[in-house]
Amino acid sequence: MHYTNNVKVLDAIREMRGEASRKEIAARTGLAWGTMYKTVENLLARGLVFARQSKSVAPGRPTVPLCINADSIVYGGIDVGSETTRILFCDLNFREIHREKCPTERFRDPARFVEWLDGVCRRSLEEFRPVAVGLSVSGVIDSERGIIVSGGNFGMKRGTDLPVAEIAARFGVPVFAVTTQVGVAAAEYHFGRNRGCGNLVTVGLGVGIGSGAVVNHHLLISHPQRPVGYIGHILIPGNNRLCSCGFRGCLEAFSGGHYLAAIAAERFPGRPELHDAAALDRFAAAGDADAAGMMIQAAQYNAAGIAAMIQLYSPEALIFTGGQSRPDGFLYNETLRQLQSLLPPERSNCSIGITSLGEFGSALGAARLAYEQFV
Ligand SMILES: [Zn+2]
Repeated sequence: MHYTNNVKVLDAIREMRGEASRKEIAARTGLAWGTMYKTVENLLARGLVFARQSKSVAPGRPTVPLCINADSIVYGGIDVGSETTRILFCDLNFREIHREKCPTERFRDPARFVEWLDGVCRRSLEEFRPVAVGLSVSGVIDSERGIIVSGGNFGMKRGTDLPVAEIAARFGVPVFAVTTQVGVAAAEYHFGRNRGCGNLVTVGLGVGIGSGAVVNHHLLISHPQRPVGYIGHILIPGNNRLCSCGFRGCLEAFSGGHYLAAIAAERFPGRPELHDAAALDRFAAAGDADAAGMMIQAAQYNAAGIAAMIQLYSPEALIFTGGQSRPDGFLYNETLRQLQSLLPPERSNCSIGITSLGEFGSALGAARLAYEQFV
């Protein structure tokens, strides 16, 4: 990753159990002594780092360890999902100090969206006073120019192009926006079970089907013109469903939660109990042939998309997130089974599992990215 000197020094102290001497920081970051020294002085002056006076055990000049002042600063992470919005605040060591969630309001227009988002965050923004906020959105994001291009799964059509600056102006703090899976991949790389793994791929199975990647320790940030991990929009032969993106035959236009519900309603009009993705999964697990048939097809589509990510990026770890990724889930287990049958044996050493970070992972990753941008 290309980190600022502030991030390099703070990360180095954190990685050395929260306490390091200047010499250790210089060795770990590889920064020139003068650069490191200036960076540390600046962090000390801002109160983000403090020097702990320790009794010298050996004669001579005592070394003064530098520690992270975890409570000095708060970061926010907001994950606007297709159905649920998750809000998280954490300290400078990324320890969570608050979390809450609420339903994502169906998009009407940009002004209303900004007003709604500010409304659901206002109380906690005032209580925790973050210095910056990371925003992960289930949609298409131009992180470089700071534009939310679209969020089809909650009704924000392509071409909306909402400037993130409008949200920052309402919040009163800088905001950095990424896609949901970029937030997820950042969180997994820094805080997940496979943290530090230089090549990892994340897969979100829910209303949308998406994927993120860290390649050679570099987080790939998806961009509208250079999309990363848009496996939900891989075209599947034989699938003619119309997708929210405008194309026909996208993986997500069958396997996505809302589409599964709609297709079940079309195929089995007399069985209203199946017209919901979670119910389909339960019925399939209980041996219902109608539900199982649909979920096996969805799993085949999922496996095609995930196998593409594995073939493209050769990850050492594959981490599942999202509402459909449950250890006892029919779709989840069937997706794994289909994936195993697709992959060549050389790929079998990839560690596969469900995230250990829970449903706030993307929000936590977004908070980490806000820190990387603004600390
Ligand atoms: Zn599509």
